[in-house]
Amino acid sequence: MAYKRKTRDVWRFYVNYGAGWEHEHTDVTRAEMKENRKQYRENCAYPVRIKRVRERIEPDSALACEFCEYTASDDESLRKHYDWHNEQNDQKESEAK
Ligand SMILES: [Zn+2]
Repeated sequence: MAYKRKTRDVWRFYVNYGAGWEHEHTDVTRAEMKENRKQYRENCAYPVRIKRVRERIEPDSALACEFCEYTASDDESLRKHYDWHNEQNDQKESEAK
C-alpha cells in the first residue's frame, strides 16, 4: 500500500476588514502563496496576515466510506466496497437467525 501523508504545510491568509482576522483562503504551495501575497499587497487595502500551519489532510469525503475508515480511489471502488459491507451485513443477519 502506498504511503499516504496525513499532514501538510499550508499557508493561511487572514484579512482584517475591521472586525478581527478573517480566514480568507489557504494555499498549499509556496509558489501559490507568493503569488497571492503579491496580489494582496497590490490590491488589498486591509491588513493581511499569512500564517504557516500544518493541517491534517482529510480524506475526500465523497469517496470515504460511511461505516469504516476506508477511502476509495474512485466511485467504482467505493461502490464495490459498499457491496462488501452489504454482504457482511447479510452474513451477520443469517448468523443471528
Ligand atoms: Zn467501509
